Amino acid sequence: MISRGLQWQRTGACDTGRVGSENTYVAAIDQGTTSTRAMVFDRRGRVVSCEQIEHEQIFPKAGWVEHDAQEIWRNTRRVTAAALASADLKYDDIAACGLTNQRETTVIWDRETGVPIHNAIVWQDTRTGDLCTELAGDDGPGRYRDKTGLPLSTYFAGPKARWILDSVEGSRERAENGELCFGTMDSWISWNMTGGADGGLHITDVTNASRTMLMDLRTLSWDESLCADFGVPAAMLPEIHSSAEVYGPLREHGSLPGVPLAGILGDQQAATFGQACLEPGEAKNTYGTGNFLLLNTGTEPVFSDHGLLTTVCYRIGDQDARYALEGSIAVTGSLVQWLRDNLGLFSHASEIEQLATQVDDNGGAYFVPAFSGLFAPRWRSDARGVIVGLTRFVNKGHLARAALEASAFQTREVIEAMQADSGVELSTLKVDGGMVVNDLLMQFQADILDVPVVRPVVNETTALGAAYAAGLAVGYWDSEDEIRANWAEDKRWEPSMDASERDRLYSEWNRAVEHSFDLA
Ligand code: ADP
Repeated sequence: MISRGLQWQRTGACDTGRVGSENTYVAAIDQGTTSTRAMVFDRRGRVVSCEQIEHEQIFPKAGWVEHDAQEIWRNTRRVTAAALASADLKYDDIAACGLTNQRETTVIWDRETGVPIHNAIVWQDTRTGDLCTELAGDDGPGRYRDKTGLPLSTYFAGPKARWILDSVEGSRERAENGELCFGTMDSWISWNMTGGADGGLHITDVTNASRTMLMDLRTLSWDESLCADFGVPAAMLPEIHSSAEVYGPLREHGSLPGVPLAGILGDQQAATFGQACLEPGEAKNTYGTGNFLLLNTGTEPVFSDHGLLTTVCYRIGDQDARYALEGSIAVTGSLVQWLRDNLGLFSHASEIEQLATQVDDNGGAYFVPAFSGLFAPRWRSDARGVIVGLTRFVNKGHLARAALEASAFQTREVIEAMQADSGVELSTLKVDGGMVVNDLLMQFQADILDVPVVRPVVNETTALGAAYAAGLAVGYWDSEDEIRANWAEDKRWEPSMDASERDRLYSEWNRAVEHSFDLA
C-alpha cells in the first residue's frame, strides 16, 4: 500500500500535504473521438507534458461508427505512463487527476470481468434513427425536451444503450440483475482507473449524464419514467456526481497510484471551463471532430426556440449547477479526415491548408458534410452529404477550401441561433481544438461572422478544463479567479471581407444545404 497522506472524503477538498508545494502538477486524461491524450499542467495552466495515441474508427456499415473500448483503456494506460515519463515525473508529483471525454459514446460492460458486451457506439452513429422516430411517436422529436433539454436524436446515449440491450442476446435480463454496467466513456475510464472489476467506482458527472436523455435536467438525477421509456434498467446506471470533487483514489496498480480522481467533465463542457467561460454570456467554439459552441447561461436552464441544446455546463462540488446552450455540429474536422482517408487528397490533416491556399476561393463549390444527418440548428436526420456547384473549373484545391469553409458556415448558423435564443450579441469568438491551427479557416471564420476570432495560448482547453476541475476539488487552485487569470490570448483574426461578399457566400451555402435534405 502506497501512502500519500491523503484523507479521502466524498466531496470537497482533501489534504494531500503536497498541494501547497511549487513542484506539484495536475494531470488530465482527455479521451477524445479520434485519440486519447494524457496531459500534465502546472499551476499557471501551462502544459508540462502531453502524450497522445489515436484509436481505430470502426465503420461496420454505412452510418455506423464504433470504438473498441478496451483499446481505448489500453491507450489511456499507455499515454498516462508516457506523459509522466516524458516530464520525468512520478505519481507523487501529481496533486490530482481530471478526466474529460468524447460525450454520448456508449459502452456496456460486465461488472465481474470488465469486458464490454459490444463495441462502444460512437456519438456520430446513426443506427438508432428508427428507434428515435418510434420513441418520438405523435409528439415528435421534442417529446422529452422539457425534462432533458434535448431533442430525440441518434446523437444521445440513451437510444444507443437501448439498441445494445435489444441486440445482444440475454443482455437485458443481465442488466436488470445488476450484472452489467452502462456508461459513457467517462464512466468506462473512471471505473477502470479506480480499480475496474476490483472495486472500481461506477460513476459519471452531471455534464455527461445530461447527454443520455435519462437525466432530469433540473433535479440532476436519473428519471424513472425516462429510463422506463428508453428501456434502460436502473441497476446498470452509474452514480451521478458533480464535476469537481474527490471521487476516490486511482488504482494502486496503475501509473498514478492513490492520486485523487477529482474532476470529470464532458469534453465540450471541459473546454468551456478551460476557456474560462465562467460567467453567463461567455461562449467558446471548439473545432475538433465536430464543432461545439457552448454559451454559459448561469444557474437556470434556458430552452431554445432555434434548434440548440440545453445542457449542464458544470457543477463544482455542491454549488449550484451552471447550464449552457449548445450548438453541436457533427462533422467539421472529420471532413478533413474523410478527405485524407477516403479520398487520399493528402496524407496529414495539416496539409489541407496548403492545398486550399493554392486557389483564391471555393470556385463555386460548397460541401455540406451531413454524414450523420445535420445536427444544430437544423436537426435533419434525413440529410446526407453533398457537394454542389461543380464545374470543370473546380479542382482539389477548391474542394479543400470548400471543406474548410463548411466548418465556418455551420458555425455561423449556430451563432445566429444562439443570438436569437439568448439575445447576447457576440463581440469576439473564443476558439480552440485541433482545427484552429489552420489560419485560412480562422480568417474565413472571422470574415463570415464579421467578428474577431481569438485563440488562447493553451489550445488544449479540454484537458485543461478537466485539470482545473480536479485541481479546484483538491485545493491546488483556490478559486475560479485563478482560471481567469491564467487565460491568455495567443492569436486574433480580424474580419476583412466586404459585407456583400459575405452575404453572397452565406446565401449560396444556405442553398447548398437544402440539396442535402431527404437523402437518407
Ligand atoms: P477530437 O478531440 O474531437 O478528437 P481534436 O481537437 O484533436 O479532435 O481535432 C482533431 C481534428 O482536427 C481532426 O478531425 C483533424 O482532421 C482536424 N485537424 C487537425 N489538424 C488540422 C489542420 N491543420 N487543419 C484542419 N483540420 C485539422
